[in-house]
Amino acid sequence: MYWIDNHCDVLYQMWKRGRDDNFSESKRKQKNLFLMDDSPFDASYAALKHSNALLQNFAIFVPDHIPQTGKLGVTLKQIDLFYQNIEPYVCLFQNRNNNELGTEKIYSVLSLEGADALGNDLSILRLLYRLGVRQVGLTWNYANALADGCKEKRNGGLTNFGRECVKEMVRLGMIVDVSHLSERGFWDVVSIPNILVMASHSNCLKYCNHPRNLTDDQIRAIISLDGLIGITYVPQFVVKSYQSATPNHLLPHIEHIQYLGGENHIAFGSDFDGMVNKLTGLSSAMDIPAFYKTLMSYFPSNLVNKWSYLNAYYFYKNSIR
Ligand SMILES: [Zn+2]
Repeated sequence: MYWIDNHCDVLYQMWKRGRDDNFSESKRKQKNLFLMDDSPFDASYAALKHSNALLQNFAIFVPDHIPQTGKLGVTLKQIDLFYQNIEPYVCLFQNRNNNELGTEKIYSVLSLEGADALGNDLSILRLLYRLGVRQVGLTWNYANALADGCKEKRNGGLTNFGRECVKEMVRLGMIVDVSHLSERGFWDVVSIPNILVMASHSNCLKYCNHPRNLTDDQIRAIISLDGLIGITYVPQFVVKSYQSATPNHLLPHIEHIQYLGGENHIAFGSDFDGMVNKLTGLSSAMDIPAFYKTLMSYFPSNLVNKWSYLNAYYFYKNSIR
């Protein structure tokens, strides 16, 4: 088996702990929390190895309480943490290196979860691209200079600046992540030509009525644009009575996207290290082999392998230049 995961918040946790513990730079160098055998992270190096990860997408997330003037600094700090602690072991996926499946390496993609750090300056987007960022979620749950997030009641779409950003992302060849975006923002994004679109960690609204989930029309639109949908394990997005949610509750979401024609577009976006509640039995990347077994017991192996890594692999390989 192989696995690709399209969303985790290890970088945010690493940044947060570094701040909380007030580590000195030298102390932090000795202590790579990602690499340690007793790592506090759900998507630690050991757990990724255990899950036979081919690729892990690492999101940069700046919490809401950081003032606008500090957001770019925190973004750069998390990029530095990535290059210091993760990239030496999990190499950045770059198509031009002719990366091949089945090597012992784990690859990574660097993404933004919310583009607040751009302020309203397009040059920051281009600079982040040069630092290795290849995917941008335009918003978190609330409004910023680009668009409204999914929890803004007014459901605003892309701003003029947001539209400019997305067009620049198309020019650069960056992936637009529509998880967390308002529904109107979603439709604005998918109407822009040549868009590379992914919902990195969202489920089906039909089975769990939550603003973070996708309507059938949104799912069909992503499929028609040859995009990717990462089924997520955040219990609140899986089932209404989420306290008792298990990995089996993910199956209707998968089946439904499959039914809508998504066989080649289903993937997974765990949100490991980014959620408070967890599914019983799928709480870290250590549990992925057992989850894979569950999938294999319900679905044909050719489908399971598409969902577990092939769809995401080809999506990244075709998107990232
Ligand atoms: Zn998220």
